[in-house]
Amino acid sequence: MKHVFGPVPSRRLGLSLGIDLLTPKICTMDCTYCELGPTTDRRIERGRFVNLDEVLDELRTRLAEEPDVDFVTFSGSGEPTLSLDLGPAIDGVRVVTDTRIAVLTNGSLMTDPDVRKALMRADVVIPSVDAVSMQAFQRINRPHPGLDPEAIVEAIATFTAEFDGEVWLETVIVRGVNDDLQEVSRLAHAAGLISPARIHVNTVVRPPAVAGTEAVGDGRLHEIAEALGSLAEVVAPPSVQSHQFAADSVEVIIDMVARRPVTIGDIASALGFSLAEAAKIVGSLLDGKRLEVVRHGDLLYYVPIARKGEGS
Ligand code: SF4
Repeated sequence: MKHVFGPVPSRRLGLSLGIDLLTPKICTMDCTYCELGPTTDRRIERGRFVNLDEVLDELRTRLAEEPDVDFVTFSGSGEPTLSLDLGPAIDGVRVVTDTRIAVLTNGSLMTDPDVRKALMRADVVIPSVDAVSMQAFQRINRPHPGLDPEAIVEAIATFTAEFDGEVWLETVIVRGVNDDLQEVSRLAHAAGLISPARIHVNTVVRPPAVAGTEAVGDGRLHEIAEALGSLAEVVAPPSVQSHQFAADSVEVIIDMVARRPVTIGDIASALGFSLAEAAKIVGSLLDGKRLEVVRHGDLLYYVPIARKGEGS
């Protein structure tokens, strides 16, 4: 599978089957906390990066093996709205399955009416706004120079007002960058303009692209959620348990770590294994030099060997 991955247990989406319309790593930003490593192609011009027929064929195959997913989610190797195939791909997924469709986006291209039109076809759109001041935006998101954070907030608000589905706003808080009172007040104002159905407050939970990008402690995260209003909640760890994959476990693990760093707990949840069973398979992959382990905070994450050295 080149374009369809998972299902992965998601904190917000339950069991989610991912679709990647990009190749690594194309994005409009180069966020310091990005779990995919540094952006290699930072751009704002949209394009076509994959063969859509191939994507939909893969989806049919994967859904035949894994029919009980909660969402089909466009995410993957960067910013999905950079793909000109996004709208047709959402339509294509609707033909294949009744499963709800979500799009994870950094919101940066929602200033483009064509992008908003494509996103209108989804059920849930999850844009992220981490900073509203240009200074914090540049520090945390390291955006393409053509992007303006205030214009992005306005565009997301325009979209939300017209959209029949739900917008869930996400914000990632990084210690010492956007966790101060002023930036949080700006975020609260932006959340008020956007008026989403939910607000998810997150922090640096996986190894970041840039070493030294630090998570905010639990207490402060809850204070920030409170400042963002009654809709805001701190995103909890995955709760999806006991799901048994039909596909070969080793390949599923390799596929998972190729997308993002994962813990033994993530792997156990995704495979429906006990921690001991997951640890045993991961141990054999470490021995076979197919994975390596990196520490972030108190947790150990597993990444492909090729990722070594990125983000430092
Ligand atoms: S976190 Fe999202 S928006 Fe930021 S660089 Fe990574 S893929 Fe792009």
